[in-house]
Amino acid sequence: MAVREKEVGLGSCVICGRAALRAREEGELTMIEGPNALRLKDGGSLCGSCVRRLRVMYPLKYTFDEAKRIVVKKDPLPELGTEEALQANSEVVSFREDLREHYGFHNAVFVADAMAEVKGGLLKPPIVTVFGQVLYGTFYMQDEVTILSGGNEIKAALEAIDSYEHRVPMDASSLKEWIRRTWDPGRAVGETGYLCKLVVQAKGISVKPGDLVVKD
Ligand SMILES: [Zn+2]
Repeated sequence: MAVREKEVGLGSCVICGRAALRAREEGELTMIEGPNALRLKDGGSLCGSCVRRLRVMYPLKYTFDEAKRIVVKKDPLPELGTEEALQANSEVVSFREDLREHYGFHNAVFVADAMAEVKGGLLKPPIVTVFGQVLYGTFYMQDEVTILSGGNEIKAALEAIDSYEHRVPMDASSLKEWIRRTWDPGRAVGETGYLCKLVVQAKGISVKPGDLVVKD
């Protein structure tokens, strides 16, 4: 397969045999980090779609500094060898089904580590940014989600999904600018195993670390 200018060829994927092509850089509008081909520790490669499939078993790990900036973000997948990747591939379907069962069969589940609320503007509900990680499934802009916090269930539409490198909430002007720039809502996604910010406009949300945002 021809390697386009913006891609780096990593050879054939050890799982599916297709070309493992790594994007050199994310497109301007693809603001959320997503699956990309990678090199395993023994030199084998995984293509982006096999990375996407295995990610549920190997989510990104991260820690914060005192300013709540993400300081260490570690991807466990490149730590695997080819045999381990093949083993994971044979287990991933049942792993994912067990996880779905554990979380009541929601289509997608996000676990929060923090939230922030800013004024929404005249007569508008507050803008709530929920920070965290997608456990499984995929979140898209305008998805109807349910925020589970303190025994309450609050339904809201996702106004924005943004990358999460620093715990900075989205305010009214940045939300407006974000929506203007993201002309294609399908490109703003929160993917299994990755960190992101989910932004809603709703009253009465009080999310604590470990609370869930789910989609059915
Ligand atoms: Zn593959």
